[in-house]
Amino acid sequence: MTLSAAQEQIINSIDTTADSSHWKDWKWQMRNSVRDLDTFETLLGIELSEEQRGAFRKTVEKFPMSITPYYLSLINTEDMENDPVFRQSVPSPRELDIMNGDMQDPLHEDEDSPVPCITHRYPDRVLLLVSNTCPMYCRHCTRKRKVGDEDTIPTKSAIGKGIEYIRNTPQIRDVLLSGGDPFLLTDDHLDWILGELRSIEHVEIIRIGTRTPVVLPYRITPELIGILKKHQPVWVNTHFNHSCEITESARTALGMLADGGIPLGNQTVLLSGINDCPRIMKALVHKLVKNRVRPYYLYQCDLSEGLSHFRTPVGKGIEILESLIGHTSGFCVPTYVIDAPGGGGKIPVMPNYLISWSTNKVVLRNYEGVITTYKEPDSYEPTFCDRKCDSCELLLNLDGADETKSIGIEQLLSDHDQTISLVPESNTRYSRRKGEG
Ligand code: SF4
Repeated sequence: MTLSAAQEQIINSIDTTADSSHWKDWKWQMRNSVRDLDTFETLLGIELSEEQRGAFRKTVEKFPMSITPYYLSLINTEDMENDPVFRQSVPSPRELDIMNGDMQDPLHEDEDSPVPCITHRYPDRVLLLVSNTCPMYCRHCTRKRKVGDEDTIPTKSAIGKGIEYIRNTPQIRDVLLSGGDPFLLTDDHLDWILGELRSIEHVEIIRIGTRTPVVLPYRITPELIGILKKHQPVWVNTHFNHSCEITESARTALGMLADGGIPLGNQTVLLSGINDCPRIMKALVHKLVKNRVRPYYLYQCDLSEGLSHFRTPVGKGIEILESLIGHTSGFCVPTYVIDAPGGGGKIPVMPNYLISWSTNKVVLRNYEGVITTYKEPDSYEPTFCDRKCDSCELLLNLDGADETKSIGIEQLLSDHDQTISLVPESNTRYSRRKGEG
């Protein structure tokens, strides 16, 4: 591997005896992560103004900084303040602005936590938080309140309790390891967690959310791939926000994961001043797919404290989807979601393609603006579903059918449930009826 000029400068400033084998060693990268301003300036060979230094100091008192030498080397020092890598990694005084509506834990992850290390929001899947450190502290992190806080590092016994909860909750079929970054754990520790989860019969799939292919690609080693292969099916979701992050080193890491048979997805956060542009987003999704990564979610930036300067209107996300749907291959288009404040989960939003409909025809428009119709069947006999699958023609011999009770809108649409409306708890008319208001 040949180091770039920026990488040569950084490695020489850290240690004149180090070479590319050190650079490619993820533990060396972690040991030399940049956590203070002096080192930041020295390694990049730049000098910030006194005002910038003062603002920086105040911000890191609240939200720490950590940047791997590798990710630092991607900063374009010629146009630093507009650089997407700089903006994602270097503290800004705007993080201290708390706006009306900002929250410490907008997704109420702590409230949906039946035991430490677990967030149980959806019926059949949980989040298992196994680490609270990351190779790089993203300035737009939704878990800013926790990441980097040494007092809340999940211990082996706390993780064990989370695993016990999963073991005792048979409806959980999907476990997402998150943090912090699970790939910052040692190989042995990760192997132990994955092995424990695999020993639980009802856990069908394990997912891992990691930003290491973006900020520490050298963490993807043959040994790590061996562990992931051992505990298949394991899906890996990474977090590229801009095509400039898909470097040769990142491509190598993604190639190793894909060759190891690990299905890869990507979650992007829509960030003002970084990727809030249809052309940038199209370049990103194309590069991801070329590297065998399926664009999975495009997230509207959360309402966490300190992120207001990164937020865009929802209309920007719709505009971006409008520029992707139909204009590129369907599997290049991520699902645009708003993670509901208060813990309601991800809500997909997209441009409206259904213009109108009658009893036998729907009117649609396509990505070019062509208005068309789809003729519906003149007669349709729906299958009445009373959940007696043994006597149903549709479900003959179906093993493992979902036994859970329908909730939400699905419940209103189902035949087997008599619920006709969902009423908010705070509805005063209903409270009056019950004599409460
Ligand atoms: S990698 Fe994820 S958890 Fe870590 S700082 Fe970035 S966004 Fe937050």
